[in-house]
Parts: sequence; C-alpha cells; structure tokens
Amino acid sequence: MDSNCIFCKIINKEIPSKVVYEDSDFLAMLDIAPATKGHVLIVPKEHAETLSDLSDDKASKILVLAKKIIVAMQKVHNFTDYNIIQNNGRIAGQSVNHFHLHLIPRYSVDEVGLWVPHEDDPSVTEELAAKVRNLV
Ligand code: AMP
Ligand code: ZN
Repeated sequence: MDSNCIFCKIINKEIPSKVVYEDSDFLAMLDIAPATKGHVLIVPKEHAETLSDLSDDKASKILVLAKKIIVAMQKVHNFTDYNIIQNNGRIAGQSVNHFHLHLIPRYSVDEVGLWVPHEDDPSVTEELAAKVRNLV
C-alpha cells in the first residue's frame, strides 16, 4: 500500500470505483475515462509500479483473469474484438504509477490509436537479438 497512490486508495475503498471483479489478489473496475464503452482496468492489490516490479505470482495470474473478464464483458457490451494494453513509465503513457492492465473493447467505429508501423530498422541486428536472448 502506497498512501499517495490513487489505485491503492481505491483498493482500500477510500475512493469509490465501479468494481467488475474482486478477489484477494486483484480488483477490476471500469475506467473513469474510458477509451471505448466498457473499458476495464485490472489492478493487482500489491502496489508495484511497473511490470518489472510486479511479483511473478501476480504477473502469471493476471492474463488468465483478463481472459475471464473479457468473456463477461463481451456478453454485456456486445463486442468481439479487443486490445489488452499495459503502459510502463511516463514515456509509454503511464499516468497512474500502480501497475494495471487495460481491457479495451473495440467497435467498428472508435477512436483508439495505438502506433504507426515503421520500416524495419537495419541497426537492430541479429547480434542485438542474441544479446537480449542471452540475458533472458
Ligand atoms: P495509464 O495511463 O496506463 O496509467 O492508465 C491509467 C488509467 O486510469 C486511465 O485510463 C484513467 O482514466 C484511469 N483512472 C484514473 N483514475 C481513475 C479512477 N479513480 N477510477 C477509475 N479509473 C481511473
Ligand atoms: Zn498503489
């Protein structure tokens, strides 16, 4: 628990939220400024800032939970396609420094933009791939 963290306050019920799921490890709620209709955030109860800080236990459970919640959301909001997005750090667009997963329903007309693809970068060589490979 971080006393300055808005998501910790929500988990602690100091700030209200529209909860769609809760157990001892996670709380999932409607995003207050949704990208599209039905946008949900899954928040681990443990305060970790980014994926790098999150415990392996929560990291390994969260995608299974995302799958369950998406299936329920699809029934309620009548969509098939969706994005799972997770921002780490300011440059990446993280505005709340408590790890969370975005579940974003996609509709045939919506305003979600993710990235613009670029040409393959020849300076990112197989050697660099091998360097990463050797560190994993
Ligand atoms: P990110 O930019 O990836 O850190 O996402 C933070 C998300 O938290 C944004 O989509 C916000 O709309 C959402 N958010 C911020 N405050 C609240 C809140 N009190 N209740 C629900 N969602 C919130
Ligand atoms: Zn927190």
